[in-house]
Amino acid sequence: MTAANLFDFDLDGLGSFCEQLGEKRFRAAQLFQWIHQRGVTDFAAMSDLAKSLRSKLSDVATVRPLTVVSEQVSSDGTIKWLFDVGGGNAVETVFIPEDDRATLCLSSQAGCAVGCRFCSTGHQGFSRNLSTGEIVAQLWHAEHALRARSMTRGAGSERVISNVVMMGMGEPLQNYSALLPALRVMLDDRGYGLSRRRVTVSTSGMVRLIERLRNDCPVALAVSLHASNDALRDQLVPLNRKHPLEQLLQACRSYLDTAPRDFVTFEYCMLDGVNDSTAQARELIDLVRDDPATRIPCKFNLIPFNPFPESGLRGSPAERVLAFAEVLRDAGIVTTVRKTRGDDIAAACGQLAGEVQDRTRAHERLAGRPVPIRVMPATKRVIAATAVATVEEERP
Ligand code: SAH
Ligand code: SF4
Repeated sequence: MTAANLFDFDLDGLGSFCEQLGEKRFRAAQLFQWIHQRGVTDFAAMSDLAKSLRSKLSDVATVRPLTVVSEQVSSDGTIKWLFDVGGGNAVETVFIPEDDRATLCLSSQAGCAVGCRFCSTGHQGFSRNLSTGEIVAQLWHAEHALRARSMTRGAGSERVISNVVMMGMGEPLQNYSALLPALRVMLDDRGYGLSRRRVTVSTSGMVRLIERLRNDCPVALAVSLHASNDALRDQLVPLNRKHPLEQLLQACRSYLDTAPRDFVTFEYCMLDGVNDSTAQARELIDLVRDDPATRIPCKFNLIPFNPFPESGLRGSPAERVLAFAEVLRDAGIVTTVRKTRGDDIAAACGQLAGEVQDRTRAHERLAGRPVPIRVMPATKRVIAATAVATVEEERP
């Protein structure tokens, strides 16, 4: 029997696991705190658990961190980790420190099946879903690695990560059953204690699963809109052919009934000559504000496109991005333009395309041999993260 990975459980799941071992349910809270708050993976070191439980756990369970393939630190403080998830797959996690918050961008899948035109992860296709444990282990690693560093600088052992965004590789709602317990671990006071407002799920528009998330675990919602009408969105985000804008915006509206925030953030990747005209900005205003069928409280986050060769697309010039933002703002819609972070380590949206696409070199890295990290021209075989971003939020 393979040992259970305790990163796979939310607190409730861990309670059931303890019961299966013939232990009291409340032991799970202690165990959970050791793992997530204190960063301990060795059961022998969990000193307030009975010796008998500790030895039982070592027989049937493990706490399995991910293997770090590389860590790159940008001059602006952004850190990007590449984790080996086995079978030649790797995923990326990015830490983005800012003055008033510290955001971690997590991956939910290796690859992605949605296939958006402008996304390098979409171009590589789908490899596999991450498990809950693999999602949680990204947060666990970042939190405890960073905490250890701040302690060496004398800053104490307070929590480092204040916000999580599910905006790395993959479509999080297409991996719903693994995502849900992972969100619960993030929110649990005995886990990472993040507020619902500070955990954001970004989706390309999985309508039914937005509805499920609304009931199961409402957190902040970001929706990748990218187009002001169905004809264009059908081309850019193929999922739109199944769930057109009216359905998507209806799902967003009903999400707000239970959401921790009273608006949805729309992400909008600015593509030169494709979706960036002022006429399209006005069409967006009509869509989200003036049309009674689709009206919705929202904010816009305009994302500069990070190009990659096979996309055949170019990013909008800066002045067009500003003009587009101006039209939305003039209509009273809060609009931010995403700052690019971690430029020197290729840590921004879509830039990670070149990271590990050459399988030979990926294997060398996964085997632990030092390989200089450099971005290579993208190929169809890339393993890429799509986006690294902070979502603008109201101050708490
Ligand atoms: N699958 C989810 C979350 C990951 S992508 C989603 O699509 O929402 C996170 C964000 O990065 C999305 O808004 C996505 O559209 C955007 N993105 C993808 N590729 C990009 C690129 N090359 N340049 C800029 N943004 C990109
Ligand atoms: Fe998948 Fe999101 Fe990329 Fe679309 S933008 S292909 S949904 S990761």
